[in-house]
Amino acid sequence: MLIIGPPGSGKGTQAERISERLGVAAISTGDIFRAHVKGGTPLGVEAMKYMDNGDFVPDTVTNEMVRNRLCQDDVGSGFLLDGYPRTSAQVDYLDGLLAAREQELGVVLQLTADDEELVRRLLFRAKEAGRSDDNETVIRHRLDLYHQQTEAVVARYAGRGILAQVDGIGGIDEVTDRILGALAKMLGVPVNGR
Ligand code: AMP
Repeated sequence: MLIIGPPGSGKGTQAERISERLGVAAISTGDIFRAHVKGGTPLGVEAMKYMDNGDFVPDTVTNEMVRNRLCQDDVGSGFLLDGYPRTSAQVDYLDGLLAAREQELGVVLQLTADDEELVRRLLFRAKEAGRSDDNETVIRHRLDLYHQQTEAVVARYAGRGILAQVDGIGGIDEVTDRILGALAKMLGVPVNGR
């Protein structure tokens, strides 16, 4: 499955919780990039140029990284991608990867939230965690990119009938509950007792 949402919608937190419940690996492209930046790898040096400005890392770089990650042992039975795909070209690439693996997406979950609430949350996170891409100009740019490019990604999955939308505003447990409910409905099976 995929989890898609604007910056600050809590998708990382929810992705980890949901992956635990489903017993599948959570793969966050943002986390992988940050680990490379921290480790000072060539990929990290390249990615940082884009991340600090709130831009997308180029598709070729991102796609290749995801392809490598999906070759690892823990993703055999299924996985939850967090923050990928974000562009239409990434959707095409993922389609190819999945077809080659004879796998299909079960559900694409979109977390929704109002822009001004997201800006408030991200400015708060900037103070707490000191992420270098959390200042107001960069935050607004990341939101613009989400609207310009990632909403088209969401629309493509909606057209395939596999999109579930969940309101991301509320307490963490409350949002997790909503997601589990939406997944159960979408997949037609109970997800952990629901
Ligand atoms: P995130 O933690 O998901 O908000 O990602 C942090 C940053 O990593 C983004 O602002 C981008 O610069 C980069 N990034 C993460 N995922 C992608 C992706 N699928 N395509 C391009 N850039 C990405």
